[in-house]
Amino acid sequence: MTGFGIDHLPYGVASRSGRDLVVVRLDDDVIDLAALASASPPGFDPAVLAGPSLAPLMAAGAGVWADVRAWLQDVLPDSSVGCIPLAEVEMQMPFAVADYVDFYASLNHASNVGRIFRPDAEPLLPNWRHLPVGYHGRAGTVVPSGTPIVRPAGQRRPGPDGRPRFGPSEALDIEAELGFVVGAPSRMGEPVPAGAFADHVFGVTLLNDWSARDIQAWEYVPLGPFLGKSFATSISPWITPLAALDDARVPLPGQDPEPLDYLQVAEPAGYAIDLEVVVNGTVVARPPYGSMYWSPAQMLAHMTVNGASLRTGDLYGSGTISGPERAQRGSFLELSWGGTEPFTLDDGATRTYLQDGDTVILRATAGTVTLGEVAGTLTSP
Ligand code: CA
Repeated sequence: MTGFGIDHLPYGVASRSGRDLVVVRLDDDVIDLAALASASPPGFDPAVLAGPSLAPLMAAGAGVWADVRAWLQDVLPDSSVGCIPLAEVEMQMPFAVADYVDFYASLNHASNVGRIFRPDAEPLLPNWRHLPVGYHGRAGTVVPSGTPIVRPAGQRRPGPDGRPRFGPSEALDIEAELGFVVGAPSRMGEPVPAGAFADHVFGVTLLNDWSARDIQAWEYVPLGPFLGKSFATSISPWITPLAALDDARVPLPGQDPEPLDYLQVAEPAGYAIDLEVVVNGTVVARPPYGSMYWSPAQMLAHMTVNGASLRTGDLYGSGTISGPERAQRGSFLELSWGGTEPFTLDDGATRTYLQDGDTVILRATAGTVTLGEVAGTLTSP
């Protein structure tokens, strides 16, 4: 079992002989969907599969997404048209990211960060249990798996002379997250209710929110993350359709106090998706998405409740996924407790934050479904 069977069928864009093809992955092959549609004409407009990006399919809406998936599950078992070995293609950025928003939806992560940065105060700020906290990130630096990540330089907290220090980040980190990909747009002035989540969200991808903790710590008050985050965000080239995760739906762990009406969701609103953070071949953490406090439907409702519109290609991240156990923490910040407790890799090396040359891979499974991994290697500036 590969995790990429007929029950999964993630979408991507594969490059071959200079052409960018809209594909699904089936085991260790990709299927050129335009070629398949020529041989087995579907009941929907095949122009949505023409490429060179997933955007036309994403914009077509949930009815077409269901039609395409039903057609694929009907046709693929008896057809090899358009079938290309995965090893013969190069996966591309599957769509142009429109707006990028990142949330902070893990109670365990937010509590850990609060304890590390504000040890003498309540770990959670007063708003945290009432709304999914988020910020707008930089869409133009969302890159596909495999893109090298250059260690960013920036201002850090002042030294003894009172002047900010400047130079390459000395506390470069990862954040293991899920990314939610918006397909169907909405109109400005019209909030999207939580119940319309599956009408607007096309699918899910793994996301690594590279973070420079020292730059972040100096710049983030009072307006939030900026250059400590905006230099790079990596995503998997594979977008898993929401329909492939139906069997992974689970109730949220529980919300207290009860959220406002616009944030109420029908259960099960969470997903049992188990992640792995792999550093130079060592699994350093296994964050459980099922432990997240805020659901993706609530995040969607919150980011549109003021009437802000959705565009095809909007991407929103879950925030770092951390479970209650130490081995379930989705960032080096938490694994090393603010850089004070180094952890050990299989080769005996220790880490607090990333070193140049380190490769980080995020993997995830949800039952029989394996999400496409996201990898990145850190290079010196
Ligand atoms: Ca993040």
